[in-house]
Amino acid sequence: MQHSPDYADHKATLIGNYVGGRFVTEGVRFDDVSPVDGTIHARVVEADRTLVDQAVSAARAAIDAGWGQLSIQERVTWLRRIADRMEQRFDDFVAAEMADTGKPLALVRSLDVPRGIANFRIFADLAVGFQEESFRTPTPDGRGALNYTVQKPLGVVAVISPWNLPLLLMTWKVAPALAAGNAVVVKPSEETPATAGLLAEICHEIGLPPGVFNLVNGFGPNSAGEFLTSHPGVDAITFTGESTTGSAIMRAAAATVKPISFELGGKNAAIVFADADFEAAVDGTARSTFLNCGQVCLCTERVYVERPIFERFVDALRLRADALVPGRPDDPKTTMGPLISTGHREKVLSYYRLAIEEGATVVTGGGVPHFGDDRDAGAFVQPTILTGLAETARCVKEEIFGPVCHVTPFDDEADAIRMANDTRYGLAAAIWTSDLARAHRVAPLMETGIAWINTWFLRDLRTPFGGVKLSGIGREGGRHSLGFYSEPMTICVKL
Ligand code: NAD
Repeated sequence: MQHSPDYADHKATLIGNYVGGRFVTEGVRFDDVSPVDGTIHARVVEADRTLVDQAVSAARAAIDAGWGQLSIQERVTWLRRIADRMEQRFDDFVAAEMADTGKPLALVRSLDVPRGIANFRIFADLAVGFQEESFRTPTPDGRGALNYTVQKPLGVVAVISPWNLPLLLMTWKVAPALAAGNAVVVKPSEETPATAGLLAEICHEIGLPPGVFNLVNGFGPNSAGEFLTSHPGVDAITFTGESTTGSAIMRAAAATVKPISFELGGKNAAIVFADADFEAAVDGTARSTFLNCGQVCLCTERVYVERPIFERFVDALRLRADALVPGRPDDPKTTMGPLISTGHREKVLSYYRLAIEEGATVVTGGGVPHFGDDRDAGAFVQPTILTGLAETARCVKEEIFGPVCHVTPFDDEADAIRMANDTRYGLAAAIWTSDLARAHRVAPLMETGIAWINTWFLRDLRTPFGGVKLSGIGREGGRHSLGFYSEPMTICVKL
């Protein structure tokens, strides 16, 4: 276990960069602020252009030094070592993720950290069985030809991740990229760098070859994010975040025609038919609207409910919202944490105000909770349910990314499908019905990357994941991730 001494000295409060197997703590620092009470819980070293250059060079050198040529069995052994060490340091990851995001302890323990670890195990298993193809082709001389593919790494992969599920979404990219033989330079969100810092420690502790995993901290424009995505030495970019950021990254990547994989924003719909299991539909919609304080790309922000059950559904959903308990992450009574920052809270509150200007009825919420203690300096908002808006209202069209939904009645199936699809986004949809034929009829008509029937957020990690329209480009998950992170090459042998 070799920490560089300068890093170990400041471990509790300083999050450094990790480049070519070395922790770098020199440089301009910025604050890592708790969204629970506004206190500064860590200082983060911003990577400048020179350090980003060094990280890209170190990644390239690691590939050339042999990482790219390791057998798949050797590489997946490294992935399993990472997972094992993460498991040993499970509580450190929980503490770091809670400090950065303010999420309730139970959520971090049951979702963020286990899924972060599982990503390494799952992609280790999948990579071993990743198929190469071969074809025998007839030729005029009767001897034929053998065509076969070899999967090669892309090279240096830039991983740009968001703040809402920091560890989960970062490892979802790092694990398959490494399994496929690439080296990575990771740029976590400036709001949530702590778990990426811990992952760098783990790579160091287990002796992962220097340069295979590099970490550069910083912001987007004019900072580490842009330096990395426009870098000529980066061979591919995988990004999760806002659709507008995706556009900026696409422009930066255009000059060197880099392959990109984008998982972007959403404005996801749920359709609740009158024949649905009522309690399951209300519980499911409450969860899909309010989980992680509404900060999951898959969260429902538009709910379409068949008119005969509309009033009853809105009442029941309101009871679920009002029962949520905002509070500190380590308080067992807490069921909803804060938004990620007071800056993001201002954006969400501006939509709460806009909804009223646009003529909404605020069924519940619409403001901020008052605690009478230091949490009033945090980023909490009330869970909010809106009705009465026109389908053209900005609050029905734009991604808010908070604990809020608008509920609209509908009269027939075609109407519900039309409204659900009338959006520039296309990530996810949920359909609640007990009519099996209808479920299977409606689901494929959703213009989204995934549609759930009578559930939400459930998914086998081997399935393709991604969005259409403004919600993304490409698919990750299972062999689809391995497909993105590798370059198939064809070899043809005349027999
Ligand atoms: P964001 O786009 O603001 O930031 C994401 C990352 O991009 C951060 O690391 C940021 O520093 C970096 N970045 C910003 N500008 C950049 C630039 N010009 N060049 C390079 N990097 C840049 O997103 P966020 O606010 O962190 O996350 C929330 C958004 O992510 C929401 O829109 C949400 O829907 C989306 N999201 C999508 C998925 C999905 O799978 N589709 C999953 C989670 C979150």
